[in-house]
Amino acid sequence: MTHLAAVLRGSLLAMLVSSCAYYEDRAADKITEIGKLMAPVDERIIHGDDEFTGHEREAFEAGLIAWAQFTRGRVRLRVIWDLDGTNYLTLRPALFRVLPNDMHDGRAGAVEGDSIWWAPEACPDKQACAEHEVGHFLGLCVFPRPHVPYTNNVMSATNPSRNFGYGDWRECLYVGVCKEPRPDVTVVTVTVDPTMPNPSLEYPK
Ligand SMILES: [Zn+2]
Repeated sequence: MTHLAAVLRGSLLAMLVSSCAYYEDRAADKITEIGKLMAPVDERIIHGDDEFTGHEREAFEAGLIAWAQFTRGRVRLRVIWDLDGTNYLTLRPALFRVLPNDMHDGRAGAVEGDSIWWAPEACPDKQACAEHEVGHFLGLCVFPRPHVPYTNNVMSATNPSRNFGYGDWRECLYVGVCKEPRPDVTVVTVTVDPTMPNPSLEYPK
């Protein structure tokens, strides 16, 4: 672009911006407000180990859907099962299939940076385990934050549940992955026609 064209474009832009600043500001406010509520915190694609069985893949995928529902769409993770012997060093984030023996203390999973290590054979409820590890991946209960101090939560230290609980919600809010929903406010406008009987105005005496 020539210098003149750039100047012209610049002045046009300045004119446009100044002429409708009021509306643009209002629009920006709205976008910011909605964005705060709706912007996803995580839209990454996880590269899953092709060693996982069909059943295990299904459980992990269901766990990602559960996280999307729990966070009201803020977490939108997907998994592609393309991690193999040729690319495991470079593809990230990565979900590795390991054996229970590979894990410290017989744990069913661990998260280190953008790598998830999952030993599905150590899990009675594979989806619950998947949800738990995804929770760590998202930053919940990562050191020095302890596990959720209740049982029957996804982020409980032992026997995690696949159903999210109050402790999960609190931790999720704390680390900023979840957002407090705005209180539901219903505004009712009532127009009263004095010539018509209005049942809503008939209070018992
Ligand atoms: Zn854990």
